[in-house]
Amino acid sequence: MINDKVCKALNEQITLELSSAYIYLAMGAALEDQNLPGFARWMKAQYHEEVAHGMRLFDYVADRGGRVELGAIEKPPVDFGSPEKVFTTILEHERKVTASIHKLYELAVAEKDYATQTQLHWFINEQVEEEKTAEEILQQLKALGERTHMLLVMDHKLGARES
Ligand code: MG
Repeated sequence: MINDKVCKALNEQITLELSSAYIYLAMGAALEDQNLPGFARWMKAQYHEEVAHGMRLFDYVADRGGRVELGAIEKPPVDFGSPEKVFTTILEHERKVTASIHKLYELAVAEKDYATQTQLHWFINEQVEEEKTAEEILQQLKALGERTHMLLVMDHKLGARES
């Protein structure tokens, strides 16, 4: 059985992961509108990944005999600006998610909830990847500068994402 404090924090994390999914989906729509189908495809793949993060915690709470309680998801923006701005936003957002997972981990430690700590190890590692990927793409976009034809090369590259 999971304690109420940890359960509440896990539920908040589920909502944050599903909110992330919704933001990536909105980014996909905005990039589709900029005629960048590869970037849009990347965002949609990321949308699915965030839903999977939320569901991983959803199933975990249920497995521990906790009650899943979904929170409200805010309306995402319609415009996110240039691809460089989009990835600046993504990097900031993923850093926020990392901080939230670390806080959750600290709570699990304080509450001596060892199973939750183990569960969160996967998320801690995943955030290292998320931040690394966002940072890498952002730096590449910055390096393009005014060479807009290179943006189409990157669009092709991002569109090749498998999942
Ligand atoms: Mg996530």
